[in-house]
Amino acid sequence: MKKVSIFLSIFFCFIVLLGLFGCANPNREPKDLLARIKFRNKIIIGIKNDSKPFGYVEDGELKGFDVDVAKSISKNLLGDDKGELIEFVIVTPESRISDLNSGNVDIVIATMSISAKRTHIIDFTNPYFVAGQALMVKESSKINSIESLNTRRAGIILGTTGEKTIRQLAPNATVIAKKNYNEAFGLLKEDKVDAILADDSILYGFIIDNKGYKILPARYTKEFYAIALRQGDENKELKEALNKILNHMQQSGKLNRIKEKWIPNLHKDA
Ligand code: GLU
Repeated sequence: MKKVSIFLSIFFCFIVLLGLFGCANPNREPKDLLARIKFRNKIIIGIKNDSKPFGYVEDGELKGFDVDVAKSISKNLLGDDKGELIEFVIVTPESRISDLNSGNVDIVIATMSISAKRTHIIDFTNPYFVAGQALMVKESSKINSIESLNTRRAGIILGTTGEKTIRQLAPNATVIAKKNYNEAFGLLKEDKVDAILADDSILYGFIIDNKGYKILPARYTKEFYAIALRQGDENKELKEALNKILNHMQQSGKLNRIKEKWIPNLHKDA
């Protein structure tokens, strides 16, 4: 009798454990992120909405260079011809790392540069575009170097690589930092700053829509834009697949066509 009750207790515990760990659940999402994306037939991508021509909204639709890269990724991974299997989540330079590491998004495609500091906490694919930090001023401005900002006011965007550059190259500048590009550009429009330091690729988007501004010729950094992923084994397969897709986009001329579509005159207009 005692033996039977021990056997029953063990059997009962086994059933409970099976339930707890979901071993009996065939619908359980895989751990590996690439497998999980394919299993759920959806990819969740962090994207920007204030960074024309990379990620912005027009006629209620998200558009831009990064949006096209995202659509190519989804097409290659999921056979998604119309970008319908992407769930876009809007990120900012300040939020994108925590959006990634908290699992809010699978990947980030958001004008994000590879940097030594960032590679301590997240991972990156190979780069898909190279920008450079530059200064934008009003056309009438006499400013011609970043050093001259030491006695002036500079606008930057919080969470961007521009924070470090201004500290290094114009440590005595009065820095006004904003959460997004529209607010930062507003500072320049209203003469609350003398220049904006940001990636030329995004300043370019502002210049094509607004008369009376110029991007100065100097480039202070090289910004290697890459797709950001979480660190760890669960993301390795996905990183490999993304690098293969980016490589193919490069070889086939697709990346160049996206560049021609969104930033045909980046250096001419600057
Ligand atoms: N590429 C720069 C960065 O990763 C600035 C562009 C952005 O706003 O993301 O910080």
